Parts: sequence; C-alpha cells; structure tokens
Amino acid sequence: MAQTNLQLTTEEVKRSFFRNLANVQGKFPALASTFDYYMALSYTVRDMLMARWVGTASEYTEKHSRTVAYLSAEFLMGPHLALNLLNLGVTDVVRKAMLELGLNLDELLLEEPEPGLGNGGLGRLAACFLDSMAAMEIPSIGYGIRYEFGIFEQVIIDGWQVEKTDKWLLKGNPWEIVRPEWAVDIKFGGYTERLEKENGEFSVRWVPGWQVKGIPYDTPILGYKNNTANTLRLWQSVAPESFNFGRFNEGDYYGAVEEKVASENLTKVLYPNDGPLQGKQLRLQQQYFFVSCSLQDMLRIMKVQRVGLEHFHEKFAVQLNDTHPAIAIAELMRLLLDEHEVPWDIAWHVTQNTFGYTNHTLLPEALECWPVDLFQNLLPRLMEIIYEINDRFLERVRPQCLYDTEQVARLSLIGEWGGRQVRMANLACVGSHAINGVAALHTELLKSDVLADFYRFWPEKFSNKTNGVTPRRWLALCNPRLSRLISDAIGDERWIGDLSQLKRLEDKADDSNFLEIWHDAKRLNKHDFALKLYERTMVGVDPDSIFDVQVKRIHEYKRQHLNILYIIALYQRLKSDPHFDYHPRTFIFAGKAAPGYHLAKLIIKLINSVAHVVNRDPATKDFLKVVFLPNFNVSNGQLIYPAADLSEQISTAGKEASGTGNMKFAMNGALTIGTLDGANIEIREEVGEENFFLFGNTAEQVQRLKDSGYTPRDYYQNDIILREAVDLIRSGFFSHGDVGLFRDLTDNLLFSDPFMVFADFNAYYACQVEVDLAYRDRMRWNRMSLLNTARSGKFSADRTIAEYCRDIWKVEPVSIHMPPLDTFKLR
Ligand SMILES: *Cc1c(COP(=O)(O)O)cnc(C)c1O
Repeated sequence: MAQTNLQLTTEEVKRSFFRNLANVQGKFPALASTFDYYMALSYTVRDMLMARWVGTASEYTEKHSRTVAYLSAEFLMGPHLALNLLNLGVTDVVRKAMLELGLNLDELLLEEPEPGLGNGGLGRLAACFLDSMAAMEIPSIGYGIRYEFGIFEQVIIDGWQVEKTDKWLLKGNPWEIVRPEWAVDIKFGGYTERLEKENGEFSVRWVPGWQVKGIPYDTPILGYKNNTANTLRLWQSVAPESFNFGRFNEGDYYGAVEEKVASENLTKVLYPNDGPLQGKQLRLQQQYFFVSCSLQDMLRIMKVQRVGLEHFHEKFAVQLNDTHPAIAIAELMRLLLDEHEVPWDIAWHVTQNTFGYTNHTLLPEALECWPVDLFQNLLPRLMEIIYEINDRFLERVRPQCLYDTEQVARLSLIGEWGGRQVRMANLACVGSHAINGVAALHTELLKSDVLADFYRFWPEKFSNKTNGVTPRRWLALCNPRLSRLISDAIGDERWIGDLSQLKRLEDKADDSNFLEIWHDAKRLNKHDFALKLYERTMVGVDPDSIFDVQVKRIHEYKRQHLNILYIIALYQRLKSDPHFDYHPRTFIFAGKAAPGYHLAKLIIKLINSVAHVVNRDPATKDFLKVVFLPNFNVSNGQLIYPAADLSEQISTAGKEASGTGNMKFAMNGALTIGTLDGANIEIREEVGEENFFLFGNTAEQVQRLKDSGYTPRDYYQNDIILREAVDLIRSGFFSHGDVGLFRDLTDNLLFSDPFMVFADFNAYYACQVEVDLAYRDRMRWNRMSLLNTARSGKFSADRTIAEYCRDIWKVEPVSIHMPPLDTFKLR
C-alpha cells in the first residue's frame, strides 16, 4: 500500500517546528540550543507519523491480524530521526525547511543520542528485522527491555579501553510513549502451594516473596513509504505502588525506599554478554521480567479481541532471539495452567505451536545455563513446570533412545555436570515447533553437533534462515552517494524496497566510465570518513590508500590479533626493504570488548600500541597507517561501512554463526577477505569466487586440527615471517621495552589458542598479497566492487523475513488504509 497524504510544504514543516519548539520544548529561539532544535524537529516528525501508528493499531485490532511477537533481550536500534524521515519520504522537504531557518539537518541529526540497547550483531539483527517487518507490512511487535543504561560508551585512554555509562535517556526521548495503563505485575521468590479444587484436581498458587511492576514504553517502527507503523514495546521495572506500605507505616521509610531502589535496578543496565558469563542473578531476573511482561501483554490483547486462550498460537507467532527469552516457554505454561486453568495437554499444545527458537552461537561456553538453586529460589513455580516438562519429555524419548542413559542425559533440560543447571537451549528446543540457525553452515553445524541429539528426534523442526540487514539504514540512509548513483544507473529507486533489483547494475560492470564514477563515490566517502577519523583520533589518513576495515566486537574468535600480526609483518617488510612495492594501506579497527574479558582488552591495547609506533615511523608512515576508532556503534557504523575498500571477516571457520557486518560491507561495495565461515560462504557464492578473497582452514580442517592436537609452536618455528612478528611484540618493541605487557596474549597464541591464529597466518599473508595486486589494477577492483553491490540482494533482511513468514510464522502482510482520524467512532 503506497503511503497516503504526505505532500508537505516547507512552510508546514517550519510552522510545526516552531509550534513544537514552544509547546513541547518550552523554548523560544534565542534560548534554544541545537539539542532543542533536534527535539522540536523530532516532535514535528512524530506528529507526521502518529496517524499512521494509531491507524495501524486500529486496523490490526479490527482484523484480528495474526501477529509476530519478536522477543529479544537486545534491540540495537540506532538513531531514529534520520530513518523516520527516509521512511516517510520527507528528508528533502525537511532539509529544505531547516535550511530556510538557517539550520543544517545533518547537524541536528548528530544531536540524537543513540539507543544502544544491545551488544552487537544479535541486537542489531532484531532492529533490522523490525525494520523489514514494517516495510513488508507484517503485523509485529518487538518486545524487550528498556535499559536505563545501554551498552557502555568506550573511550580509549593511553591505548586501553575505559568504559563510561551510557546515559541515553538523560535529556528525554521524543520517540517513546509510556503506557502506564498497561502495566503488569511480576512475581519473584517465595513458595508454591497446592490447592485441591472441587473436582478433585489440584491447582497451584505461587506466593511470591516480592513483586515488581513492568511499565511498557512504545516506539513506532515505520515501514518504507507505506502506511504501516508497528511497535517496539520495551519494559521498565518499577516498585508496585502499594509495595511495602506496611513497612512505610511502621516508620521504616528507608527500608521501604531501599526496596523501591532494588525494583528499579532490575532494568538499570544491559549486560555486556560476550564476555565470560557467570550465573548472574540479575540477568535471570531481567530475562524473566521482560518475558512475563510480554506474555501478559499478549494475553491482554487476546482479551481485548475476545479470542479464546486455546487459540493463542493462532493469534501470535512468538520468536525467541537466542535463549535469553527461552523462559517464555515455562512462563506461558504457567500463565495458562495457573492463571487460566487450561489443562496441561492443551497448554502444552498451544505453547509448542507458539514458539520458534533462533540459535545464535556455536561457542559452547556461550550456551546459557542457570544453577538450579538460583533458579529455584528466584522462580520456584517455573522450576516445577520445567521439571514437569522434562519428566514428560524424557519419558517419551527414553524408549526411542533405547534407554541409552548418556543420550537421555544430554537431552535433559537439567545438566548434572558441574552442579545442577537448567539448560536454556534444551528448553528452547523442546518447547518450540521450529528451530533455526542463521547461516547455512551454522545450521548444518547445529544439526551435526551442538543440537545433534534434538535433530535426531525432530529433524522436521530444523531449518536455516540466513541473516540479512535492512537496505534502508545500511545503504539508502548511510550511503546517499552510492544510492543516487545506483538509482541513476538502473533508472528507479525500487531497489530500496526490493534489493534483488541491484542485479540490474551488472549491466554497468564493463562500462569504464561508470566504474570511474563508482570509484569517485567511494573516494568521496573515504574522504568524509578521513575527516571524522582525524577529528576523533588526530590521525590523518590518505583517502587514496586502501581502507582495510575490521569493525565488530573484539573477541578471540573474530581474530583481530590475526589482522594485527599481519600488520606487524607488513611493517617489518616495509622497514627491511625500502623498494618493496605496496599500495598504501590504512588499517581501521573499531569495536568494544566485554569489560571482564582480559584478552580482548589486551588486543585493543596492542592495536593502539602498534598504531602508535607505525604511524610515527618516517620509514613507513606514507604506506601504512593503523587507526582505532573509539566507541563502535550504529552511528559510527553508518560512517564506516560506506568508506571501506576491504572487509575483514577472518573468524576461525565454524565459530561465527553468520555475521551481518560482512553483508553491510558487501552492499556498500567493499570486497571481502575472509574464511569459509558463517554467511561469508553465501556471500562468496553470490558475488562469485573471483570477487572474494578467500583464505584459511575450513571448519572441517579446524575440527581435524583440534582432534589431532593443535600445536601452535610448530607454525611459529616453521614460519619466519610469523616468528619475527610475534617476537617483535615479545621484545617490548610496542610497549616501551615492557616485555611483560602482552605476554598473556602471546603465550595464549603460542601455547593454547582454541582459535588457531597461527594455523591461518601464512594463508592470510598470501591472500593480502593478492588483495594488493588486485587493488593496483584499478578497473579490475572497481568492477569487483560493483559486482559485490550488484549481487548482494540476497542479504536484505526483507528476504530473511519473507522466509520466516513462509516457513515458521505463517503470517501474511496486512495493508494499512489509514482512514482520516476523525472518522473513528468513540466507544
Ligand atoms: C552490524 C553490526 C555488528 C555486527 O557485526 P559483525 O561484523 O557481524 O560481528 C555489531 N555492531 C554494530 C554496531 C553493527 O552495526
């Protein structure tokens, strides 16, 4: 459905802007700051979208539309204003209106604090999915947590990462509406009791030790140039009003207030989740809190629409973004059994048919487990339900396992190894009708390895859904130069809503004029980014050098240290051979390390230490620069991806579930140097092997190496280039003579290293030589770049969402017709 009635004039925009500046911000222009102008403009845009939002909710309610509920502990949304302008199709008129007021739209956009409610890929995927569902008119709600502090802000001090709290809500958030009337109560602790009913059956009552209230905050999610405005609903915890009134009356004012503070701490801060994770009580509380809030909200919606609870799975398709919300399976059972007296078998049928589970990791240490004691104390009724689910499940599978106790033990929801644990992935598999991985290789490894026991029982539950990213934010919005060029070349803008249209660019692959223009767009993006880099790091870089970029969370499996070892080797080569012919390169890194992850933080320090030395060396500084851009987030990503020539996707094969950064780079015309891991494999298939720089051991070879005993020392001894690079670090050359500073890192690489950096070093080095050769053939490189963009259509999240809708959710689009608001009848 094409969007209705947004033929705005600049006069209307300006009038609304001034009205909002006065009426909402309460400022007159002489007193207003740039931030006030950002707020006034945001409210102006909000006014444009409210009719769509209300109209969408009204139409879904009236039609009882089947709805996707996407449950995710993280939503890494990025700034809203610019994307809302794009989706409404009003960027140009608003830019012009602001210009007429003497304001620069781009400067106002910079005022928006980024809602960083996620760690990295998983949270960003949830955000891309909401965007695609709105673009495709799929009725959907995103449910999550309104963290007061999102992912920390990273600053670099003396080369080290230092974390600062992210106070994104401090100056107010114009994009959310609080809905206190839909608050729900959440129980914790206490005990359960059994009550006999008249018919002789038992019911269970959970008497909680304490409670909190969940309050929903709604943010509109606009579709691209249609009338759809879906909802992201994030829950905040507060103390119940009546809570500890007794204590208050007893005069224990401070005791009562303390409990209030404890309630409100629940949604205070996002956990940085890819560090070593221990059984953190607060995190389990967060998970149960947002899941119970969300399910109770869905039950409220069912009641409004007068749908019987036995039809829950027909009204809602609930997707679990990893195991963080997997406790929803036990919670829906509890709500149906205890609060609505639905019999077990019906409740279980409804539950299993409601949930789909997306697995996101192949690292065994990242599979969530909760100590039974902790679980029992915090959620006693849910523990009982999980035992009951487990008993019935094991009862069923035991004969099929031919009473193989090992296999039964592996399937059990309770792990007995190293203290009794609740295994969330097992719960998710048993309680869902669909299980998916996020790239073809990842799904195959789930079936053969991580979830092999479940695959044996339920092969039909498994499917692959290769991730995607939204082309609105990650091409149309972040790369206007390339977007204009694409639209001019293929004659329309349909690619923004149908990325397969990019294929039509292939006609230009041998047009040398066009390839020069293509190169110029990239060159200008690099120039713009170089200015930002200089502002933020004081390092000047040459836009005509190759921008070789690795931006993502810092983690051993992603192997930023493989990249830095190559840089050191290159540096040594440039030093020892002044005639070495090499196209100048700028190595750009960005990414956060989990605050408790020692080796990841040491990798950041090493990158900055190497940068410090090589950027100053007169012998190399014209050929080699290394820059670490602090605080990688969505906004910084929007600057970086369009400016990259080379995309570093060098994880140990079999460790990266999919990757999505790899897709953003390819769409924006960067070539990939990468291993056969995650979605890299499918990117290579799409763009053609001649347009991809492949190196390294395959997942199978990695497994074989591991089985036969990986001995990094051998590689070190046999490869002089590798040895000299490692020894240069160990000599204290990058640490002012301190030979101990990087010892934990070098010892890890030399003596254990499950991620086998040394095993791939030689192949990586050789592949980088290929990259250098290719870049020096300018037409060849530009052609490869163009073909990467032209063939990246598969990696639109629209394609991914279409597959979820068809195979898992069975949901159809609902077009929004948007009647004028004054035609609504009051109840
Ligand atoms: C895309 C994205 C990621 C994921 O990057 P990978 O390279 O797939 O790990 C992480 N953080 C941000 C801010 C992103 O935009």
